[in-house]
Amino acid sequence: MNILLTGGAGYIGSHVVFSLLDNGHKVTVIDNLSTGHKKILPKKINFFDCNINEKYKIKEILQSSNFDILMHFAGFIKVEESVSNPKKYFENNTDNAISLFETCLENNLNNIIFSSTAAVYGNPKENKPISENELLKPLNPYGESKMRTENYLLKNKKKINSIILRYFNVAGADNQLRTGLLSDAATHLIKIISEVAVGKRKKICIYGNDYTTTDGTAIRDYIHVSDLADIHVKTSEYLLQNRESNIFNCGYGRGYSVLDVINKANNITNGKIKFEISNRRPGDAEKLVSDVEKINKHLKWKPKYNNLKTIIHSSINWEKKIYEENL
Ligand code: UDP
Repeated sequence: MNILLTGGAGYIGSHVVFSLLDNGHKVTVIDNLSTGHKKILPKKINFFDCNINEKYKIKEILQSSNFDILMHFAGFIKVEESVSNPKKYFENNTDNAISLFETCLENNLNNIIFSSTAAVYGNPKENKPISENELLKPLNPYGESKMRTENYLLKNKKKINSIILRYFNVAGADNQLRTGLLSDAATHLIKIISEVAVGKRKKICIYGNDYTTTDGTAIRDYIHVSDLADIHVKTSEYLLQNRESNIFNCGYGRGYSVLDVINKANNITNGKIKFEISNRRPGDAEKLVSDVEKINKHLKWKPKYNNLKTIIHSSINWEKKIYEENL
């Protein structure tokens, strides 16, 4: 397959680049490097430093090769930042994404895989794994910005074959440490725990222990980034075979609380992860766990790394590499 990826120099995008290459596919990356890093990309790809709303440049790229699929990763992903600066999120995650899709359509590329998020669900009422049919009620502009882009794709089903992938909590790093999450201002739980593990931070704050969960801390479904990358390879095959739109949740169907994750990290690090309790973070949901029935039924995908210890371990190993090699 010949795949065009936006945001390929980012965390998830770069893992997908490696997975596609590992499976013998051709890869072209568009990234404006606003949050991405060219240094984590392999040399064996075409790279364009470009914004997703630069219609003219994108048109040239689209006309330079016969792409089978667009994978659209480029987007802002920080819940808290979206609450303080919603405009940034709606401009980039919605308006610019739609502009990109229209440029693709104008140039005969109508197979799209879109990176969405479990944040579109908000706080579902029932205490059970979330299926793709759940009502969408995002709690923050990040989730809302992704939901609006999903709505565009769904409204244009006749013209666009799209697969919407709703990611639950993505963590960990490539097992060969070819890439991983690079961030100057980390906000994600397992990334911050890894920074504490290597001594970059003294402690982690738990954002709220007054949720109605067993230990009072919020629950998430953590999926290893390499399993998610594999989902993208399988989704591409599915999309080209079926040429029809669909939506899949991407998780393992198992929830862990913030304290569960910290305790597991403490087992790995012999108690290095000091923590304190602070207030809830604005925009956070209480519990997000994926119903995995649909993805299991439609994609020939089997997780390889569905073990919390494996995920945390790979994340800490990557953090050590960043530290030792000054990445
Ligand atoms: N969290 C926390 N302390 C941190 C970072 C995250 O307690 O320093 C909690 C956060 O409130 C949420 C969970 O960890 O309940 C996962 O947050 P993350 O930012 O990793 O992902 P999100 O679910 O917000 O996309």
